[in-house]
Amino acid sequence: MSKLALLGGDPVRTELFPAHNFIGAEEKQKVMEIMDSGVLSRFLGVWHDDFHGGDEVQAFEREWADSYQAAYGVSVNSCTSGLYAAVGAAGVGPGDEVIVSPYTMTASVTAAVAFNAVPVFADIDPKNFCLSPDSIRARITERTKAIIVVHLFGHPADMDEIIEIAAAHDITVIEDCAQAPAATYRGRPVGTLGHMGVFSLNYHKHIHSGEGGIVVTNDDRLADRLRMIRNHAEAVVTGREIDSLVNMVGFNFRLGEIEAGIGRVQLGKSQGLVDRRRDNLAYFNRNLPSVPGLRISPAADYVDHSYYAAVLNYDAAAAGLSRDVLIKALHAELPETRMRKGHGPLIGGGYVKPIYLYPMFQEQIAYGDKGCPFKCPHYKGEINYAAGICPETEKAHATIITHEYMQPSLAESDIDDVLHAFAKVAENMDALRAFEQDGNRD
Ligand SMILES: *Cc1c(COP(=O)(O)O)cnc(C)c1O
Repeated sequence: MSKLALLGGDPVRTELFPAHNFIGAEEKQKVMEIMDSGVLSRFLGVWHDDFHGGDEVQAFEREWADSYQAAYGVSVNSCTSGLYAAVGAAGVGPGDEVIVSPYTMTASVTAAVAFNAVPVFADIDPKNFCLSPDSIRARITERTKAIIVVHLFGHPADMDEIIEIAAAHDITVIEDCAQAPAATYRGRPVGTLGHMGVFSLNYHKHIHSGEGGIVVTNDDRLADRLRMIRNHAEAVVTGREIDSLVNMVGFNFRLGEIEAGIGRVQLGKSQGLVDRRRDNLAYFNRNLPSVPGLRISPAADYVDHSYYAAVLNYDAAAAGLSRDVLIKALHAELPETRMRKGHGPLIGGGYVKPIYLYPMFQEQIAYGDKGCPFKCPHYKGEINYAAGICPETEKAHATIITHEYMQPSLAESDIDDVLHAFAKVAENMDALRAFEQDGNRD
């Protein structure tokens, strides 16, 4: 039995894991072509052919929409911008409620706040960490205007049921697909299951252009409103047949030609990169040794998960060992990843803390000092952001382990090292329990 690194033994590996770098010669060539053209953006904030941006932007939008079987793609400079534009396009405003997930990156919640609407947190389903249809149903009021569904970690939410609930109440469904490119739900790509789907091209995501994003939709009115909000709507409404001035206040959410060009090349690589994640994760799961209290959280059989992250459920009571010490032991065995030094090994406890526990919600202060949108006089509902409102989220956050040992840059031999670290922990559970008993939990 080999001694754990945490307890003074040698670690399984010290050589950094290979970097998750999939920017190559094609992207470089594309960027040089765009540089040579001298046109790094061709957007104009007036009603003109160039209102829709340059050649790369328009080609990127067409290609992305085709690949997601969507009628329209509207590129933006981030998924955050895309979520803001989508909430605006849906006509959300003061007094409205938007049902959101508490277990997500903050932008999927602040998008509602940005239009002075009140986020209402529904709970997650612990089987996929996405919004639970039952919890959504319980949170709907006559003020509910939209639902922002997040396909968290790359696992699609239970869309059939969510869409049915939304349709019955005439509610717009926005899918946050930042973590789920190339994921499918009952054979259909995510993004067009609801009214609008928003993707990220941020550096941390499956494919990237540094920063960037795109919204897909099959609805021509929504597509038009998204384009308006992206590009100075207020200046462009005159002379156009705009049926509503609601939220026709624009931003500059425009994507540059260089990012759009890189995005086109990356889109071409996305299926291969996601497939590689799937293969790597299958290898990891197939070979994960048995560790007390640890269980793989399986993907539903009607989805194709795209594995932004993978989840292991951990029962500390059954194992007789806290999650903190288990993770500490794994961290001591494993190195960091090239290009990500300072981030630690690609495994940790939980994800983000439930969003309603952030100061913005606890203090109910967002825009200005008058408590808007929470205390806005147009708002007639009752706000509750107390700890305990989403028990499944809080429980998941306190118990799950998330990891990224399926990144496309990893070879099976790299994953073997990670599996070896788990095996070492499993062999040394008694020593770890004793370590914890000696007061070494933190
Ligand atoms: C990354 C992420 C975003 C934000 O994406 P950006 O392109 O960085 O703005 C939004 N939602 C989720 C779920 C994300 O993971």
